[in-house]
Amino acid sequence: MILVIATRNKHKVEEIRACLGEGFDFLTLRDFPAAPVAVEDQPTFAGNAAKKASLLARWLAEQPLQSQTVFVLADDSGLEVDALGGAPGVNSARFAALDRGGHSNSTDAENNAKLLRLLAGVAPDRRTARFRCAIALARVEPAAHAGDLSGPSGTGAPSEEPLIFEGVCEGRILESPRGTAGFGYDPLFLPDGYAQTFAELGEEVKNKISHRARALGKLRRWFVERLRRDWFTPGPGFV
Ligand code: IMP
Repeated sequence: MILVIATRNKHKVEEIRACLGEGFDFLTLRDFPAAPVAVEDQPTFAGNAAKKASLLARWLAEQPLQSQTVFVLADDSGLEVDALGGAPGVNSARFAALDRGGHSNSTDAENNAKLLRLLAGVAPDRRTARFRCAIALARVEPAAHAGDLSGPSGTGAPSEEPLIFEGVCEGRILESPRGTAGFGYDPLFLPDGYAQTFAELGEEVKNKISHRARALGKLRRWFVERLRRDWFTPGPGFV
């Protein structure tokens, strides 16, 4: 089964591969340089993830891939800080760039500097925050890959809305960065129950407790259930 991850962010790809483990052939947007890139303009993580997954699944349905089961997985995620009314939220990647009126992403250093500036003087117990992740899963109909458009929709397009799996990791924002692992806001985020930031804990621990790990755990359980159902549900001739 092929799983195409709709991102070019290598950190996300590594985390997704580590969390899902064996059993999938992974591809990413880097394997499809001509694939369209979705504009992330939805008000929710789930909306953006669904948009990214649907766009890529529709595009892949038109490509001459092998006739295999192909799923598209898209992650949209970010940080919600209570003292900032939930910001940066869906604007996490472009938090600093918003001040310049830009739509492109800012660097992690710029985003972290802005976060610390806005939280200056806010007491530790009021610096509560959470990472939130929405994973969207869309299926690309196999018949379309073989050039046979006799699938359910007859158009080669994905036939269903993407499924959404959400994960949350609660914590607090520190007053200065600590650690070098990970990416984004990791050096400033102290997950509840730990004395080290995501950037200090490193990938092994992060991939057990993070928002992304929790969303991917739900997705993995969905796949297991589905395989069990497909393999063990007796067909009509079995009854
Ligand atoms: P996206 O690529 O549009 O989903 O943007 C996600 C942004 O949220 C990233 O650029 C980071 O700034 C932030 N983010 C999401 N997940 C993480 C994480 O696991 N650690 C640190 N920052 C994250």
